[in-house]
Amino acid sequence: MVTPRRAWLVAVGDELLNGRTVDTNSGFMQRCLADHGLHTDAVLVVPDRAERIMSALEGTPAGALVILTGGLGPTRDDLTAATVATWSDRPLTENAIVADHLRALCERNNFPYRENMIKQGLLPNGFEALINPLGTAPAMVGEAHGRTLVLLPGVPQEMRALWPQVSAWLSDRGLQGQRLPSVLMRTARFSEPGLAKATESLRENHPGLDWSWWLTRWGVDVQASVADTDADLPEGLADRLAAELGDRVYARDLRGLNEVVQADLIAADRTVAVAESCTGGMLGAALTEMPGSSACFLGGALTYADDIKSVALGVSPETLSVHGAVSLETAREMAAGCRERFGGDYALSITGVAGPDGGTVDKPVGTICLGLASAQGVYAGRYRLGPHRYRNRELSVSFALDALRRHVAHGVDPFAGAEGEVRR
Ligand code: AMP
Ligand code: MG
Repeated sequence: MVTPRRAWLVAVGDELLNGRTVDTNSGFMQRCLADHGLHTDAVLVVPDRAERIMSALEGTPAGALVILTGGLGPTRDDLTAATVATWSDRPLTENAIVADHLRALCERNNFPYRENMIKQGLLPNGFEALINPLGTAPAMVGEAHGRTLVLLPGVPQEMRALWPQVSAWLSDRGLQGQRLPSVLMRTARFSEPGLAKATESLRENHPGLDWSWWLTRWGVDVQASVADTDADLPEGLADRLAAELGDRVYARDLRGLNEVVQADLIAADRTVAVAESCTGGMLGAALTEMPGSSACFLGGALTYADDIKSVALGVSPETLSVHGAVSLETAREMAAGCRERFGGDYALSITGVAGPDGGTVDKPVGTICLGLASAQGVYAGRYRLGPHRYRNRELSVSFALDALRRHVAHGVDPFAGAEGEVRR
C-alpha cells in the first residue's frame, strides 16, 4: 500500500453552497491533519448530489487520503455513503456493530428502529465503522481505488468528537506524517505590516525557512518552519524571534489570548471584572469561553448608554459631558467603578467608537479607550484601530486582555506609550 501523506477534503452539503452554512469542518480537519503530520492538498465543496460527489472522488489522486464530511444523515438527501459504495464497488451492507448500537440506542430512548435508523447502519462492504459518541451517524473508514477513505458526519460537534478515533485508525495503518520543525508566535497589538517589519531582519537572515503570518481574532500569528523534514530549525531562532517581537507575544503555542489570561489569573489567584460599552459583552464572553472561568471571572457591566455608565458604574456625568464617553477619563472611571462594585483584583473597561458612524475629527471611527484598575492604580490608554465595526470590537477585546496580561505579569502601567499608537 502506498502511504498517503496528502489529504483531500470533500465537504458535502447543499447548505454549504448557498451561503447558509459556512464550511467550518474543513478548517477543523486541516488543523487536525496538520497535527497528525499530514498536509491538505485540496478542499472541495459539493452539493448533496451523487454525480457531484462521484466526480469529486474521481478527481482525487491515487494514494490520497480522502476525507468526506456531511451527507451521512438518515434522510433521503444524505447520499455520501451510497455514493462512496457505488464508486468503490462495495455495495451497502449492514454493519452488525453499528446496527446493534443503533438498535440499543432506540430501545433506550423508546424510539422505533425503522427505515431511517436502519439506513445509518449500512456501510460500503468492507468498510469499518467508528461509533459516533454524540449522534446516530457513524464514521466509516476503508480503502478503494488506491485511496484511503474516511466518511464523517457533517454536524461539526459530531465530526470533531470522532476525530480521535479517526486519528487512531490512521496511526494504526502507519498514516502518520512527520511534522516539520517550526516555531509559532501568537501576538496582540501588531498590524500585519507591523509584524512583517518586526520580522524583516530575521527573515532576511534565514531565507531558507518558510515564513507565514496570518490575522487572528487576537492579532497576528507568525510561524517559521523548515522547508523539508531533513532540516533543523536554526539554533536559538525562537528566542531571537521573541526578542524582536517583544511583549506583544502572548503565546508560543496554540492557546488563545483569553486562555492565556485565564491561566495567568488562576495561577496568580486573582479575579477580574469587566465594564464594557462598544464591545457589548464580547470581553465577558471571551473570558467565559473556557471551562473553569469561574475561578477568575467575577462578572461584568454592559453600559452602552452614557446614563447607564453613571448609574451602573458611577462615572460622573461631568466627566461624560466634559470629556465624552470615549475618553481616557471615562475609561478610567468605568474601570475604577467596576473594581469597586465587583470587588475583584482587576477591572477592565472598554469604551470606543466602533463605527461605521459616530466618528468625529477628534475621535474618528476606531478610537478606543481602555481602562484597567488594580491595587497598583487606575490606568487608561487610547488606541486608533481601523474602519471596520466588527474588527474594532474584536481588537478592543484583544487589546484589553493583552493589557491585563502584561499588568498581571509585571504590575506596571500597561498603557504606557499607547497614546498615539495607531494600528491599521
Ligand atoms: P449532514 O451530516 O450532512 O446531515 O449535516 C448536518 C448539519 O451539519 C448541516 O445541516 C449543517 O448545519 C452542518 N454541516 C454539515 N457540513 C458542514 C460543514 N462542512 N461545516 C459546517 N457545518 C456543516
Ligand atoms: Mg447534509
